[in-house]
Amino acid sequence: MRHCDPVTLQPIDIFTYQCYYPAVIQTIIRGICDLVYPPNCFICKNYLFTQHNSQPSPKAVLCLDCEQKIQFNIPPFCPKCSRHLRKTLKKPYCQECLMTKPHFDFAWGACLYNEPLQQLIHAFKYGQKTLLRHFFAQQMIAFIENYELDIRQFDVIVPIPLSSTRLRERGYNQSLMLAQGLSEQYQIPISYNNLIRIKHTKSQTLLNQKDRWTNLVGAFRIKPLSNFFGKNILIIDDLLTTGATASMAALALKQHGAQTVGVLTLAIVAANDQPS
Ligand SMILES: [Zn+2]
Ligand SMILES: [Zn+2]
Repeated sequence: MRHCDPVTLQPIDIFTYQCYYPAVIQTIIRGICDLVYPPNCFICKNYLFTQHNSQPSPKAVLCLDCEQKIQFNIPPFCPKCSRHLRKTLKKPYCQECLMTKPHFDFAWGACLYNEPLQQLIHAFKYGQKTLLRHFFAQQMIAFIENYELDIRQFDVIVPIPLSSTRLRERGYNQSLMLAQGLSEQYQIPISYNNLIRIKHTKSQTLLNQKDRWTNLVGAFRIKPLSNFFGKNILIIDDLLTTGATASMAALALKQHGAQTVGVLTLAIVAANDQPS
């Protein structure tokens, strides 16, 4: 079956952007591995079947105890970026949004970026633990359902791209994996190769807040002939810290006619301001 790119309407080969094995091969490999090494929790390393009465789902990655340690992002939310606010907000937005004025219309972050999620995201991005993508997508879907977010407003999902250098190093784009989980759940098409990261930036984690923004100036561009005009776009990324990456991507999309740009991330750093 040929897939069409939702933005350029050109046929695409779906495997050109799937950097991992098709599901059936994964299932066979996983079955063989489970016979030799019974699946255990990513965090505490306990065998999963000691807590699950039956055989754990092939997508299970955490025991029930560790899963309960994942903290959902809960209200009160900043209406712009959804950062959890420790006190009831008396300003229109959180301090970060007032200072940085992000270009996206709004952002939703599903979970707080605390342990053990930090460890899991690190393994997902830098440790080739791509099996975590199912669990992560479930958390994002649970957030959408819990707060009855209007996911149907979006025409297209755009995962934050990696630079070609980083994609070669890593072998996969973790944001695309999350986007695929959302796309399958809500039947919203993914546009993958139309927002391009042209700058191989330093890792954001090593930079202070101001440098994170300057590091990303000019980092994104839109591929010629891509048509985002009038589209309502949902950007997907694994983490929102300062919001600089999502904001710069949203700016590139808006400069090419996007109508609404929302953001959904697996994790978000809580606001550190105490609004007065
Ligand atoms: Zn555990
Ligand atoms: Zn905010």
